[in-house]
Amino acid sequence: MKAFKGKVALVSGGSRGIGRAICLMLANEGADVAFSYLTNKEKADELVRQIEQKGVRCLASKVDVRDFEAVKSWVSGVREKFGGLDFLVNNAGIVRDKPLMMMLEEDWHDIIGTNLDGMFNVVRASIVTFLKQRRGNIVNISSVSGLIGLSGQTNYSAAKGGMNSFTKALAKETAAYGIRVNAVAPGFIETDMLSSMDAQQQEKIKTMIPFARFGSADEVAAVVRFLLSEESSYIIGQVIQMDGGLAIR
Ligand code: NDP
Repeated sequence: MKAFKGKVALVSGGSRGIGRAICLMLANEGADVAFSYLTNKEKADELVRQIEQKGVRCLASKVDVRDFEAVKSWVSGVREKFGGLDFLVNNAGIVRDKPLMMMLEEDWHDIIGTNLDGMFNVVRASIVTFLKQRRGNIVNISSVSGLIGLSGQTNYSAAKGGMNSFTKALAKETAAYGIRVNAVAPGFIETDMLSSMDAQQQEKIKTMIPFARFGSADEVAAVVRFLLSEESSYIIGQVIQMDGGLAIR
């Protein structure tokens, strides 16, 4: 029995990495999947083909999560095409790591705009549907950087820390409507984002991780699966840390 048969899921930034693994997990569990991407049409189209082969519907849309109006029409288009909305996964995110003294104004605004404003835009466009149907499940992909703060990531730590607080506040605000809101805070996960670091930096980081390895996108998708499923029906407002022990507090 597939856990999410008949459900409709919206995922921001599905074309690559963690978002892609989440889309595949949702499709494997029987959900129809609508995902956004920014530039990578080829990868998005390839994923649509892969997902449709699983016998579910899939829609890829080029939508910049920073654009409030574009996000609004994306969400309403998906709702119309798929006839509803059950799950929202806010995954689209970028990094622009630099020491603060070298950080440009655009490095700050790009990160806040994509990671934090982007999440607000997608949630704001979806929340009325969830409130009206008195049902909905939101998972935000945060980072340990937002829990402990990482050097060179003041912009990213601020954005992800903001996501964590947003998650808790919205969970309290919408619990009475049967909506659950949680976040996942991964440590270092093997995706294109991580490969922007050179090999030496990567080896240094591994020595700081008790498991001595990076996580996989599928491991993140498994936590998202749990949070979207009925197995976590009494969990709201939590930021689930999954980092191989990097930031045990
Ligand atoms: P990737 O760089 O591999 O993929 C990022 C995805 O987001 C792509 O699908 C990209 O689309 C999309 N995207 C980027 N900017 C926008 C935008 N403005 N509008 C719409 N979509 C956009 O990243 P990861 O898979 O590694 O990261 C996914 C999430 O997980 C992020 O929120 C990240 O902060 C978080 N995370 C990642 C960790 C890691 O170590 N990898 C650790 C902790 C958290 P396109 O393909 O078109 O460029």
